[in-house]
Amino acid sequence: MVRSPVLVINSGSSSLKFSVFDMHTGREVLAGLAERLGSPEALMSWQGEGAKQHRAIPDQGHDGALREVHSLLDDVGTLVAIGHRVVHGGEAFSGSVVIDEAVIEGIEGCASLAPLHNPANLLGIRAMQRLYPSVPQVAVFDTAFHQSLAPEAYLYAIPIRLYREQRVRRYGFHGTSHQYVAGEAVHRLELDPQDHGLITAHLGNGCSAAAIHNGRSVDTTMGMTPLEGLVMGTRSGDVDPGLHEFLAEKLGLTLAEITAMLNRESGLLGLSALSNDMRTLTEAAQSGNGDAQRAIEVFCFRLARQIGALAASLPRLDALVFTGGIGENAAPVREQVLKRLPLFGFECDTALNNQHGDDRGRINAPGTTTAVVIPTREEWMIANDAFQLTHPSSGVE
Ligand code: ADP
Repeated sequence: MVRSPVLVINSGSSSLKFSVFDMHTGREVLAGLAERLGSPEALMSWQGEGAKQHRAIPDQGHDGALREVHSLLDDVGTLVAIGHRVVHGGEAFSGSVVIDEAVIEGIEGCASLAPLHNPANLLGIRAMQRLYPSVPQVAVFDTAFHQSLAPEAYLYAIPIRLYREQRVRRYGFHGTSHQYVAGEAVHRLELDPQDHGLITAHLGNGCSAAAIHNGRSVDTTMGMTPLEGLVMGTRSGDVDPGLHEFLAEKLGLTLAEITAMLNRESGLLGLSALSNDMRTLTEAAQSGNGDAQRAIEVFCFRLARQIGALAASLPRLDALVFTGGIGENAAPVREQVLKRLPLFGFECDTALNNQHGDDRGRINAPGTTTAVVIPTREEWMIANDAFQLTHPSSGVE
């Protein structure tokens, strides 16, 4: 039996991830994904206690997929809360909130900052309100953890009226993940919660790093949108803003085409002309593919450079934390990055790194600056926020 089940929904433009947690044990009892929503190939896959299962859901959109999720939940018992990942909370949300009409209006108000993401998140929220009118729902924002940035870290050096009138500024993303792994690092490394400095690197398909001082984000690499900062799977990260005019003039591209190129055809995929997937690139590099090798080198160089820049916001550096699919699994990437940072006292222990860390996740040689691998648990963080906000007196066992 699942006790106090909480459903987590991560609703994207054409996909929807879902998980259910037993809040008494912290166990994930169901996890699934609906992909290619709205197309004839729409497919849902999920795993509960048994083997992984699939079901074709042709032409179903978010509503249809969530009705399927609803039917899977019969065995789970009565949901006590639903947590939604919401990408952009702008300056309106600096923490998770119970969803009511004012919150929905607030999320709509941020939609111009995340035109692909926020409307998709709202589709998920509205569908769940229709299916579960009496279950409390909570929004957990990717941007919220970075609302602690100071103006010197979040302002772009462009006319200030653009911030005042349009809220153009750096927001940062992946906040749930940075917050989770930073908390875990403090716990595992027995750091003082009131006196520590960390750099967290979330390296998945999207990549960002953050500087965290005493539990608060003080700088991060993503900006107004998730395009800024590190090299990612298909996103370029930082480029010279002059590139847009050059490409428009030379190639006759529209702004929308350039933005699409920087978001979907760049990063590891663009550099390697092979794949956005670090696993594929590592294998190709090992078998002598020069473009794949260089793509990984650019990725590591730019990450090391940004780690150096983030360190400038911290009075001390207790540890560098790697997380996300690449951060947790790609030992050669971690090794290359640490090798580029001797100035900060890092030295990789190859054996520990190849086994993804010791009992606390450490991959550094003894006596050198701590580097640690900590698997992220974004869905768990969302479930936990949803449960704590709606059941403030209940503790998780
Ligand atoms: P998302 O951002 O979509 O949640 P993930 O956090 O799952 O993505 O990260 C996906 C990335 O992690 C891909 O580049 C993938 O190749 C990489 N990855 C996963 N496992 C490994 C592995 N064993 N070795 C190298 N890279 C890996």
